[in-house]
Amino acid sequence: MVEAKGRAECRRQGYTSAVKILAVSDKIIPTIYSAAVREQFADVSLVIGCGDLPYYYLEYILTVLDKPLFFVRGNHANLVEYGPLGERRGPWGAVDLHRHVMQWNGLLIAGFEGSRRYNQGHFQYTDREMWSHVMHMVPHLLWNKLIHGRYLDLLITHSPPYQVGDADDPAHIGFRSYRWFLERFRPRLMIHGHIHIYHPKTPWQRRYAQTDLINCYGYQVVNLADYGLLERIRMKDKADVKTASGAGLRTSQPQSLLEPDQELGDAPQ
Ligand SMILES: [Zn+2]
Repeated sequence: MVEAKGRAECRRQGYTSAVKILAVSDKIIPTIYSAAVREQFADVSLVIGCGDLPYYYLEYILTVLDKPLFFVRGNHANLVEYGPLGERRGPWGAVDLHRHVMQWNGLLIAGFEGSRRYNQGHFQYTDREMWSHVMHMVPHLLWNKLIHGRYLDLLITHSPPYQVGDADDPAHIGFRSYRWFLERFRPRLMIHGHIHIYHPKTPWQRRYAQTDLINCYGYQVVNLADYGLLERIRMKDKADVKTASGAGLRTSQPQSLLEPDQELGDAPQ
């Protein structure tokens, strides 16, 4: 039903096809890190990285799909990653969303990196530190409301909010400030990673306040029409959005069950 609704919305808005986001986190998917990605995700318009993935993996996706890539770092991100082309402190060509509010074709996007602090590693924050990151963003969100009539469309994080799809162990408890953020600024969609999913029946979609949350562990393909976000998009040429198939969400969960080896960490405690 959701897919049919999404397709109808695409047509109503004048798009010849769906407008989709490829969201990735936490686990290298072999079919994505291969030449097959070009064909499999030819209809994707934007790529989102929700953390705990090597920079070279994000660079590969960005380069092969030739689409913009926004990302946040997870608690297992490297400060410096070394490769044949030298050292890098982030994926080349991608946009770091941490504490920033950006626009992509009219869509208002913001992000926060990292997890709760549980040891001395990088990209970990106490609840108090994350509150300061959230507060840092408030003036820009108020400006958005003034100029665009809404605070935000899409929130990208590594960790989930406290008790909304998080876990009980110290590394995987979510942030309380994210709950306040969702209640106060009501983004339509939040995409996060960090919480690994090993069973196909484990929920990966949730709702809190007025926001739909997606755990993109592995990957998810998100059709913006399914979340009422198509009308927010201002593409120069709607016919540029090419796709071979219709709308809908795709999930990587069954594949994830088979290949739990290529992960940066965060196994459940
Ligand atoms: Zn993580």
